Parts: sequence; C-alpha cells; structure tokens
Amino acid sequence: MFQEVQLPSGGSYEQPLGLFINNEYVASSCDEIIESMDASTGKVIAAVQAADAKIDVDRAVDAARKAFPGWRDTPAAQKRDLLLKLAFLVERNVDTLAQVESLDSGKPLATNAKGDILGVAEALKYYAGWVDKAQGQSFSPDPRTLTYTIHQPLGVVGCIIPFNYPLAMMAWKWTAIATGNTAVFKSAEQTPLSILYFAQLVKEAGFPPGVFNVLSGTGAKVGDAIARHLGIDKIAFTGSTAVGQLIQQTAAVNLKPVTLECGGKSPNLVFADADFEQAVKWTAQGIFSNMGQICSGTSRCFVQDSVYDKFVEALAKHVEEKYVVGPPADPKVVVGPQISKVQQERIQSYIKKGMEQGCRVALGGLGLPDAIANSQEHKSGYFVKPTILADVTSKHIVAREEIFGPVIVVGKFSTYEEALEVANDSTYGLGSAIFTQDITRAHDFANKVEAGICYINSSNQLDFALPFGGVKMSGHGRELGEYGLANFTNVKAVYVNLGSKL
Ligand code: NAD
Ligand code: MN
Repeated sequence: MFQEVQLPSGGSYEQPLGLFINNEYVASSCDEIIESMDASTGKVIAAVQAADAKIDVDRAVDAARKAFPGWRDTPAAQKRDLLLKLAFLVERNVDTLAQVESLDSGKPLATNAKGDILGVAEALKYYAGWVDKAQGQSFSPDPRTLTYTIHQPLGVVGCIIPFNYPLAMMAWKWTAIATGNTAVFKSAEQTPLSILYFAQLVKEAGFPPGVFNVLSGTGAKVGDAIARHLGIDKIAFTGSTAVGQLIQQTAAVNLKPVTLECGGKSPNLVFADADFEQAVKWTAQGIFSNMGQICSGTSRCFVQDSVYDKFVEALAKHVEEKYVVGPPADPKVVVGPQISKVQQERIQSYIKKGMEQGCRVALGGLGLPDAIANSQEHKSGYFVKPTILADVTSKHIVAREEIFGPVIVVGKFSTYEEALEVANDSTYGLGSAIFTQDITRAHDFANKVEAGICYINSSNQLDFALPFGGVKMSGHGRELGEYGLANFTNVKAVYVNLGSKL
C-alpha cells in the first residue's frame, strides 16, 4: 500500500498508493494502476491504484454521505480550527510536499513547487476565515412578518482536479469542505502522488472520517462515474473545455450544479505609453511560469505598432536570460519539463503549425532546449523550448487555440479600438491584461474585455479574496473569494409569520 520513493534531495519518503476513504488508505477493488512519470526523465516514479469506477466510487460517495450530517452540524469554530490546523500541517511539511509535487509534475522545486505548497496553506487559511463568518440576510416587510435567508451546504461535492496545479487546485476546492459539504476528490492521472501524501495530514489535523476522500483514476472511468453519480450533489471541475462540456451534459442526470474552470487564450495588450520594462517582465511571467501550463496564461500578446519590434526583441532577450530551462531539482531552473510526452508533442505540433502558417520564431522553436539535448539523463524528459511566435494575427491557429505550454504569440495593432476587438476575438474568456499609463483606457478595457479576470499593468497575480473564473468557453461559476462560497451552498428563504391571520 506504500512505496519508498527516492527524492532528488537525497532522502526518501513513503508514497501511499491506495485510495483514501474514511481517513484510511484502502486497496482498490480492481487491479488497474496509474503510473506517475518523472516528467524530467520519462521514468516511472510509482504506480498508484486506480479506483474501480463502480465499487470504489460508490464506497467513497457512501463515506462522504455518511459523514455529511455530522460535518454539516459541526460548530463553525471547530470547523475553522480544523482548517487552520491543516494549513499549519501543510506549512510544517512544505519541504516534502514540494518535493513530491516537483517530482510528480516536473515543476521546478525552488522557483515553482514550493510556492504552490505555501499557496495551499494560504488558501486553507483564507477559507478558515470565512467558516465562522457565514451569514444570510433578514428582511422586515411589515411588523407581522420576519423573513430571512440561510446558506446551507449542498451535500457531497465531487472535485475533479487538473495536472497543472495538483495541490493548489485541490486547495481551492476545499471551499466545499469549509462551507460544510463533504467531498470526493479525483486527481489528474498525470499527477496522483501529492494529494495522496497530503491526505494523511487531513487525518492528522483531526477531520472526521469521510469528510475528505481521494480517488485516483482516469477521467473517462472514475471522473465520468463521479460526474454521473446520483449520490453526488455538485461537481467542481477544473480542466479542459472539451471535458467541461462533457461534464455539464453528464451532470444533468440529477441536475447537479457544476462549476467549470476551463481553458483560456487570454489577451495581453501592450500600449506605447506603458512602462516598457515592466510590461516585458510581466508579459513573460504571465505565460512562461509553470511551463506555460496556466489556464489564465496571457498567451496572446498584441503590441502597439510603434513599439512592436522593440518589444518582441526585448521580450526574447528577457526570456532567454531569466527563464532558465533545466531539471526541476536544480535551484536555478525556472522552466522544467511539460507534464507528459503527449503534451510535449502537442505543443511542438502547434509551434510547427505556427511556422507553417508564416509566423516568425523570435525565440525557441522546435527541438529540445540546448541544456537538455546534451543531457543523457534528461533528453528523454518532456521539455519544450520557451518560444515566441511573432507577426501573428487572429487568423492564425496558434492565436485561436489553447496551446497550454511555454509559447506566446505576438502580433500588432495601431488603435485602442482595434486592440479591444482583437482581444475579444476569441471563444475563450478567462484572463486578460493591459499595459498602459492611460487610466481611462485601462478602466474602459477592464469594463469591455470579455473575461472573468483583468490585470492592469500586471499579469496573473493572485489574491484569494478575488473570484477566479471565466466567461464564454472558459466556463462558469467562480472559485475563491466570497463569491466562491456561493458556488458551494444553497440559499434558503424562510418566512416567519408573527401574527398575520387569514
Ligand atoms: P482535462 O480536462 O483533460 O482533465 C482534467 C480532469 O478531468 C482530470 O482529472 C481528468 O482525469 C478529468 N476528466 C477527463 N475526462 C473526464 C470525463 N469524461 N469525465 C470526468 N472527468 C474527466 O484537462 P488537463 O489536460 O488535465 O488540464 C489542462 C486544461 O485545464 C487546460 O485546458 C487548462 O486551461 C485547464 N485549466 C483550467 C483552469 C481554470 O481554473 N480555469 C486551471 C487549470 C487548468
Ligand atoms: Mn508525473
């Protein structure tokens, strides 16, 4: 049920391999396994047990259903303290958790994975802060009537997680538990390890059995079974638009509500009056961090014509210098491998399509990064060169489809009206960024851009107090912030007759 896994730091840890149900690691009812690969070498790290889509999904849902009334009725102060305790345990275990996350996902340990884990603790603390502040409204239509609202948990929430931020996306979905629901989580098949390791901390913190359950498995089997389960009252999904569409259909079986955090192709506008150097740095960070596997990544950059050439050149120089490619354990490395061979090939095929359609390669391109091509150990890893495709217009495939890799496309515009039109010329609507010193233009853009998030003079900042989510094909519903609470509760209207007679 456990396997000793060597860590790049030299130590080792015990990786749980089973399912986590009722606060225990238990064996799957089937013999299917999910192999987790070290993305930087292509070698298998560990094989976890996949849940049986019928027997084990039922087991986990039963556990969560039985735990629900007790958890729902646990006093708020006690729930709050449990969340805080868990956040504290995450902080105390940050080194191991970050190493597991780095090993499993290929995220550079020092510059990426560690920040993710500290973010997990922060998200838990943020929602701990809401637990004892839940409130409804009351109304006084006349002296003989009192009316009020109460916000109640939905029951059992199915949480389906993507590979790009395995523990961070899990942590955002703890809103479900903070609002009094119990949950069944399914990890992405590429990254099953860290959530299983994290699960023991949930038990150690003192959460009652059944509140938090974890299943490994493929989307087509276990994910689908969760989406269609009649014992599940809501789906919180983060992943691709194509799967989001499927889930919305499947969930119709019992009309369970869904929140869908899907893909994006977020615009990034740079005006000639912007702080040039800052615009270069933020633009790079908005797409080249996390190997470009960022749903809200500002991957579609348009620059005002008078500074276009200068900007493309400066961006290429900055990315080349600062976004050091290499193995995730190296503390200098900022860009590690992509998650899988499939993704590596998919991203490269987009770069190829871009080149075939006449885009100019201003940085990167096809093939392995130099630092990797010469490494015996890492040349079989899933690396892609940080790439800038210039002279792109909205017509190019690379400007329309989500690449989900370290690739930015750059084109030009001359007027604000043209820039706004090009920004909104997308089926997606998740993030957006504008770089300008003109406050009127900046706020006008924030108002008119078709997106769930707008960054003015930055890109992909994160504050847990703000809602995260998209419009159009980027999905619906919000996570984080006070708005996030509403997606995991029902509001009930209560009428109290204080003496009105018929
Ligand atoms: P994916 O849609 O392939 O998988 C996401 C999850 O859904 C995985 O756990 C997978 O097993 C599961 N799944 C797959 N098929 C399923 C099915 N038929 N029924 C139920 N579950 C199923 O996405 P991915 O490739 O892991 O992640 C990349 C995508 O996620 C990108 O498009 C990215 O933009 C998006 N993403 C969005 C956000 C956001 O907040 N908007 C955040 C991160 C990633
Ligand atoms: Mn892996």
